[in-house]
Amino acid sequence: MTGQYTAPGQDRSRRAVRPHGPMRPLWRCRVRAAPWPCQPARLLLLMEYRRDRVALSMYMAGCLFDATADLMKLNDNPGPSPVELFERFLAWTARRTPGSDR
Ligand SMILES: [Zn+2]
Repeated sequence: MTGQYTAPGQDRSRRAVRPHGPMRPLWRCRVRAAPWPCQPARLLLLMEYRRDRVALSMYMAGCLFDATADLMKLNDNPGPSPVELFERFLAWTARRTPGSDR
């Protein structure tokens, strides 16, 4: 066991085949190559964690941590700012609907 938090009832073996999952270390969608989490990925995550929004925030915080480390190693461009990464990975998890306040 890695100690990584998983939502209740979640089958770990299905995580690997999740569409719109992140392609590391670029953190882009496997389907569209858009910055991850793309809109479909956010909707899938919101559905998956609909009963436990705190768990979603914790999961995305872990992704933010990993993505920050990965993207910092790719130093061929300035990369996203900490604010951009926070908005992209975490800010939307506290909202009822993603992107509804834009
Ligand atoms: Zn996608």
